[in-house]
Amino acid sequence: MDLLVVGSVALDSVETPYGRVEKALGGSAVYFSVSASYFTGVGMVAVIGQDFSEDYVDFLKSRNIDLRGLKREHGLTFQWRGRYDSDLNEAKTLDTQLNVFEDFRPLVPDEYQEASVIFLANIDPELQLNVLEQVKHPRLTICDTMNFWIEKKPDQLKETIERVDILIINEGEARQLSREYNLIKAYQKISSYGPKTLVIKQGSYGALLFTPSSIFSAPAYPLESVLDPTGAGDCFAGGFTGYLAKSQGSAEKELNKAVIYGSVMASFNVEDFSLGRLRTLTLDEVEERFESFKGLTQF
Ligand code: AMP
Repeated sequence: MDLLVVGSVALDSVETPYGRVEKALGGSAVYFSVSASYFTGVGMVAVIGQDFSEDYVDFLKSRNIDLRGLKREHGLTFQWRGRYDSDLNEAKTLDTQLNVFEDFRPLVPDEYQEASVIFLANIDPELQLNVLEQVKHPRLTICDTMNFWIEKKPDQLKETIERVDILIINEGEARQLSREYNLIKAYQKISSYGPKTLVIKQGSYGALLFTPSSIFSAPAYPLESVLDPTGAGDCFAGGFTGYLAKSQGSAEKELNKAVIYGSVMASFNVEDFSLGRLRTLTLDEVEERFESFKGLTQF
């Protein structure tokens, strides 16, 4: 187990112009882990309630995700309700019920304490920090967050961000966090908070990677049919981080490839609701789409 993630496990109710699901499997840690599991072993630290179906647990196990850090507590699983209108790049949060996350104190199992790569998926920044403090000497720490936490817990979030190597957030969040509209200025500001590498996700426009010495830009894979963008950001992070954990590198070339693997994983996820597409996705399909990215971008 090279990669440890803490984040949400959720029952998501989502509506898009192409359909809807009620209490479907979701959550930042779930999308992230399933995506990363194509590249490396993943251990998950999170909490579920009594209502979380064993079928979902079995699906996660079938992806070889280590669930020794997943606790089942009394109460209900975290729930998120969201809607996308014709602009699929923007999720409208209709409701967030923290439920069992409200009193959750993460305990990193002994077996995970030597993990070399840590991903702090979107969740309360206090929980992110708590997990970070329990892991001994990670080689690489990466973090995600969202507007909800930028607004609700800005000081705690800054404390977490200060301590990570890479921050992955979407364009709106980068602007909100840095209070800069221009993304180069946003990077400069965010890198002064701590992380020297920043990935800015731009939904269907792709992703930008900023390091102190370069900027790399990747398009999103052009798709004819996008049903549900939920989890695209987490799947991106899963492909990105999973690849870095596997390649054991973080040099510029590796980071660029990681961005493409992130884009590949996100592109599959949006083809169906919840984790529908990732239930059938094969590693061959992942590699095939990675290759077709080369044709898209080389000239
Ligand atoms: P993404 O579309 O990749 O940004 O992430 C979507 C996932 O984030 C959904 O499956 C939700 O369950 C989860 N989510 C939404 N709001 C929160 C929140 N405040 N904290 C943790 N996870 C959340």
